[in-house]
Amino acid sequence: MALKIDGKRTALEIERRLTYEIEASIDKASRPPGLAVIRVGDDPASKVYVSNKEKACKRVGIANYGEFLASNSSPDQIITKIRNLNNDPRVDGILLQLPLPKGFDEAPLLESISPNKDADGLHSLNLGKLVKDEPGPRSCTPAGVMALLASNQISIEGKRAVVIGRSILVGKPMALMLQKANATVTVAHRQTKNLPELTKQADLLVVAAGRPQIIGAEHVKPGAVVIDVGIHRLNGEPSSDNPTGKKLCGDVRYEELASIASAITPVPGGVGPMTVSMLLVNTVNQWQQHCGLSFSLKDLLP
Ligand code: NAD
Repeated sequence: MALKIDGKRTALEIERRLTYEIEASIDKASRPPGLAVIRVGDDPASKVYVSNKEKACKRVGIANYGEFLASNSSPDQIITKIRNLNNDPRVDGILLQLPLPKGFDEAPLLESISPNKDADGLHSLNLGKLVKDEPGPRSCTPAGVMALLASNQISIEGKRAVVIGRSILVGKPMALMLQKANATVTVAHRQTKNLPELTKQADLLVVAAGRPQIIGAEHVKPGAVVIDVGIHRLNGEPSSDNPTGKKLCGDVRYEELASIASAITPVPGGVGPMTVSMLLVNTVNQWQQHCGLSFSLKDLLP
């Protein structure tokens, strides 16, 4: 049976480390690290994600300066909010929760976040730093995948990796991080022909297609490591344990691969908790820089 890669456990280990780092330096810094997550509109999934991020901040000792804006807010109102946070000396990290309500162009909003407060590593300058292998905040989900692989002693060097998906949020930075860790990387996308033929060559398969359960036995080489980034809420039959019948699943058919892969992430409990952890890591890292503290979290950022 494949090793079930436990994202909750690794996330907890990272939180313990962050709690320690914050306690050790808070007197010298004279203030806690601060994070502002901006939520626009009433998307129910975003509401849950933001609330999880706020709870995680509280657990490790990061002050929360989150903001909510109604879905009929104008882009200028959002940019004004972001500029105020850019100028607020208590705030080390700013994250604009994606996706934004329909009709918003996220690019200019992400660009208005000061690069040294960019908690999700999505500002062009920080994506450029990733391309150039320079230190900087890293996109949280792919950084979380790298931390998860490291904490489970899964080696990357020399491996053939296939990343399914080429979004700015996940697929592209994922491919760059794996390349930096000396994997030979191929990126597949919606127009890729004969996907199973390609993915069957992978020692490490990272799936970020955003399509429920599209990857199964026909796509995976025996012994490969499979990382499932996808998150979907599916409607199922209500039961006494689960009155709404809603259930979470990923892009991968987990049960089908549990006897083929050597290690695999579940959904939930795999990559999801790591995304939150890396947001905290980026924030504490920026706090250390803003307060002139020594740089102690380098090993956690790819
Ligand atoms: P996206 O829709 O922006 O990008 C999806 C990518 O997959 C595209 O590049 C597309 O070309 C490719 N793709 C789609 N269908 C494909 C197919 N059949 N074959 C090959 N490639 C295909 O999505 P995203 O923002 O990158 O997110 C991907 C998934 O990861 C979503 O399910 C999202 O909810 C999830 N996600 C999870 C976390 C987390 O914390 N676990 C964080 C971010 C995103």
